[in-house]
Amino acid sequence: MRVVLLGPPGAGKGTQAKMLEDELNIPQIASGDLLRIAVRNKSALGQEARRYMERGALVPDELVLRMIEERLQQRDTQGGFVLDGFPRTLAQAEALRLTLERAGGPLDLVLALLVSDEEVVRRISGRRTCRTCGAIYHLIFDPPRNINVCDRCQGELYQRDDDAEETVRNRLATYHRQTKPLLDYYERQGLLRSIDGQERMEAVHERIMAALGAAAQRA
Ligand code: AMP
Repeated sequence: MRVVLLGPPGAGKGTQAKMLEDELNIPQIASGDLLRIAVRNKSALGQEARRYMERGALVPDELVLRMIEERLQQRDTQGGFVLDGFPRTLAQAEALRLTLERAGGPLDLVLALLVSDEEVVRRISGRRTCRTCGAIYHLIFDPPRNINVCDRCQGELYQRDDDAEETVRNRLATYHRQTKPLLDYYERQGLLRSIDGQERMEAVHERIMAALGAAAQRA
């Protein structure tokens, strides 16, 4: 299955992508995670990307595209993948379409997780991420057993720099301006399924699995 998860920051894309990775045995490709690794490693890409990420703006298309195209060439993507946080602009979506036309095959489904702006701010302010395995918690809705320690791998939990409220508001504005048009783009291609992302995470997962089942039958 070749799947894209769309939605604003905090919609649950990372959580749902990880569940799909475990259940379908296909890799999660999270552009934000790849960029954060590049920032941590202080690579040329990381140093450039950091300036944009800090203020909640998008990293320029050509940098992100090069990174994702390299990732899609790795063998583990042959049986499919879940793209999380990519594409985020129409130019990225078109580049992805052309890349997949050349190799891999077209997307099977694009899932949009719909969540209101107020809910995004509420969710992100309590979000904590594991430095080691990337698992995501929420201090109130999905707390770890021990504060600041990952249940899965005992790694340290931290709050992302760009999860501060003002940056979240910028990220939301960026989403509405640059990423939301992708909903129409994929709708026109008959690939889009919208899912209420405000339900419990297990309920969202069930709806996603049902949509994937229906897409597999059509294929
Ligand atoms: P995320 O972890 O998906 O919320 O992404 C964190 C930040 O990384 C975003 O606010 C952007 O600055 C950058 N980023 C992630 N994915 C992309 C993308 N596909 N295009 C441009 N910038 C991105």
